[in-house]
Amino acid sequence: MEYGSVTDREVEAIRAIVSPERLSAGESVLDLHSKDESFHPRRKPDVVVWPLKAEEISQILKFANEKRIPVTPWGAGTSLEGNPVPSEGGIVLDLQQMNHILEVRAEDLQVRVEAGVIYKELNQHLSRFGLFFPPDPGASATIGGMVGNNASGIRTIKYGATKDFVLSMVVVLPSGGVIRTGTNAIKSSSGYDLCRLFVGSEGTLGVVTEVTLRLIGLPAEFMAAVAQFGSIREATDTVFQIMRSGLSPAALELLDIPTVQVVNRFKKLSMEERPTLFVEFHGSSAAGLKEELEMVKEICSENQPLRFDSGIGREERNRLWDARYGVHESIKVNNPGLSPLVIDTAVPISKYSDMVEWGQKIVKEKGLKGYAFGHAGSGNLHLEILGSPEEKVQWEKVQEAGEEIVAFALECGGTATGEHGIGIGKRKFMKKEHGESLLLMRQIKKLLDPNGIMNPGKIFE
Ligand SMILES: Cc1cc2nc3c(=O)[nH]c(=O)nc-3n(C[C@H](O)[C@H](O)[C@H](O)COP(=O)(O)OP(=O)(O)OC[C@H]3O[C@@H](n4cnc5c(N)ncnc54)[C@H](O)[C@@H]3O)c2cc1C
Repeated sequence: MEYGSVTDREVEAIRAIVSPERLSAGESVLDLHSKDESFHPRRKPDVVVWPLKAEEISQILKFANEKRIPVTPWGAGTSLEGNPVPSEGGIVLDLQQMNHILEVRAEDLQVRVEAGVIYKELNQHLSRFGLFFPPDPGASATIGGMVGNNASGIRTIKYGATKDFVLSMVVVLPSGGVIRTGTNAIKSSSGYDLCRLFVGSEGTLGVVTEVTLRLIGLPAEFMAAVAQFGSIREATDTVFQIMRSGLSPAALELLDIPTVQVVNRFKKLSMEERPTLFVEFHGSSAAGLKEELEMVKEICSENQPLRFDSGIGREERNRLWDARYGVHESIKVNNPGLSPLVIDTAVPISKYSDMVEWGQKIVKEKGLKGYAFGHAGSGNLHLEILGSPEEKVQWEKVQEAGEEIVAFALECGGTATGEHGIGIGKRKFMKKEHGESLLLMRQIKKLLDPNGIMNPGKIFE
């Protein structure tokens, strides 16, 4: 695709739409918007703009579409697959200043926000109303970025992913048209589900400016447990047994031995270095949770845990879960100079043990260093495989390992990406995962964005 260039003339035209201080072509600003949290190649945009209103975005997109200038929406840049990297340069629309919580409709368990609102800040605000938005992407992400990647996290197992909470959105289309998708009703059978089309579209179909989210009441009581096993298989089989038992954990996470080791070192903890499961339950009373705890304990005991620690209440939960947080940073700090290729496969729960085993086997066979962890209860495996992109032979091995692990997930009826999105890194798996449906995806992209200006180089090869 041939794109129009951004000269002083184009910059001046955009400056006429937004006020001068909300546009920059300064080197440090361009640099900050040239990369996300992944190893994928950097690319600086030509200009960064901080819009305040959907109308401004509409005018910018109309202009960019006429001139065929690439436009990439930007939330907080915390993606792990190059999703917001402006691969063809052009304009980055940084939504950071559209950060207002517009309306809390506590009586309807709903909130209406601008796309640049930070997830953690939203939940802090909502706690006053006894409410929360559960998908927890770990990083300090924006709601727009979560919508872009259909983010999820440790609580998805009980409550769902971002897509399950979006009721309605305002979206600016590449043509400059502004639409509202969905309604404020929590159910609807009316027409095509356009919310679901835009959720997970990674900024390739339009810019989300406003989102209405469904909310959940904050749980009254918490129960947590940490179980450690003699082998990874015993840990992952326990995951399957907990899920199959009909229990409904709010979170069920796995760390393998190398991951426990780096977390211990980074956070100065002294956990036993064993395959470890972290379990969390939410409920209305401590008595109910005690019963669930007994059931979890019984299931764990079938796989001979070497250690089982548990507690009721929020403080106990935070104490027990401390080691689950900061995994990505712990791996990074313990491996200076190396980059992780992040596996994000998700498989049906009955295949989860095989998935983890396969991933570890491939890493070992290729003589690589890998850390397995993730949202086990959702069948979602993160395996960070380390290498240096500058060392060709080693990096090829890392890539091969990634391909073999994803191929296994697809054979199991799973997906290449449970939550991080396609971005640049997972494009090569789209044909295998979606077959003929990929053509329909391309046609939808062409229909909405005939000039291919929205976040080019993502999702499709
Ligand atoms: C340490 C760490 C842990 C993580 N853990 C998780 C996890 O557990 N679960 C998970 O899901 N993710 C996780 N992530 C990945 C990442 O944080 C999420 O995908 C997050 O939702 C990205 O949000 P962001 O605001 O940074 O978006 P960005 O990275 O800025 O953008 C994400 C995508 O959405 C598009 N976009 C951004 N804003 C808009 C908008 N307003 N309209 C249209 N498109 C838009 C961008 O163009 C891009 O394609 C993790 C990342 C890190 C670094």
